[in-house]
Amino acid sequence: MTIDKATTRFAPSPTGYLHLGHAFSALFAAQKASPGGLAANKKVGREAPGGRFIVRIEDIDRTRCRPEFTAAILEDLAWLGLEWEQPVRRQSEHMNDYQAALARLEAQGIIYPCFCTRADIAREIESAGAAPHLTQRMGPDGPIYPGICRRLSLDEAARRKTAGAAFALRLKTDEAMARTGTLTWTDAEAGVVTAQPELFGDVVLARKDTPTSYHLSVTVDDALQGVTLVTRGQDLFAATHIHRLLQALLDLPVPAYHHHSLLTGEDGARLAKRDKAATLRSLREAGRTPAEVRAMVGFA
Ligand code: GLU
Repeated sequence: MTIDKATTRFAPSPTGYLHLGHAFSALFAAQKASPGGLAANKKVGREAPGGRFIVRIEDIDRTRCRPEFTAAILEDLAWLGLEWEQPVRRQSEHMNDYQAALARLEAQGIIYPCFCTRADIAREIESAGAAPHLTQRMGPDGPIYPGICRRLSLDEAARRKTAGAAFALRLKTDEAMARTGTLTWTDAEAGVVTAQPELFGDVVLARKDTPTSYHLSVTVDDALQGVTLVTRGQDLFAATHIHRLLQALLDLPVPAYHHHSLLTGEDGARLAKRDKAATLRSLREAGRTPAEVRAMVGFA
């Protein structure tokens, strides 16, 4: 096993304060990079022997992300006893990398502009009663796109762009899959998984409000930063189907994956960011020590 040489990352979105679930996820990633770190009661991460541990700030969403949360996240992680490589990559500063990836996909003829609003999509799905295969098909990111703009002529798409209409870029997922053939990836718990990008339909790769998407930027960054083991919660398991397809289309290396189970509160419900009681800030203000908080999430 190459596990003690892994390069891992913790990649929070600065839309709020870190909670216990994040603490677990960050410690999990750091420990996979430097297994001896915690046991030796040293800082976990770069100083410990082993691999590399990266923290990446996923702040492509300009409306929801705030710089003060970025600062708070880094402060909380340091308080928790983590140490990571510098400089920290902030996705908002690397839009050109995502543009370059989009250009490569565009050159393959497998993306198209989509001008639809949510309402347009909902209306189309509703009125497609006669075509039940289009109705109520949900993907991991929401309803499967019914293909409205995929049917636009090139002229019409160009006309709308010139007129200044906002558009997203979607992947022709079926054509992309035909190009790559069957793909697999390996998860430490689930084993070898056959990628099913079709679950997403024509997924958005660049949003109307920001010229990239979670799926595109995370795939590009994991490759650019040399991440060899992607650790993240089970809630993002399905996303890997699309990431694997993007890796194949963009000729990127394929990391190993470890999707871990999510921490739950006493009622068994998932710890949400809005659950104020469980933020690292509030625990710290209540006098808990980093060691106590680590123990609360199973890293004694
Ligand atoms: N930024 C994502 C989040 O905060 C996690 C991305 C990932 O680990 O792939 O949910």
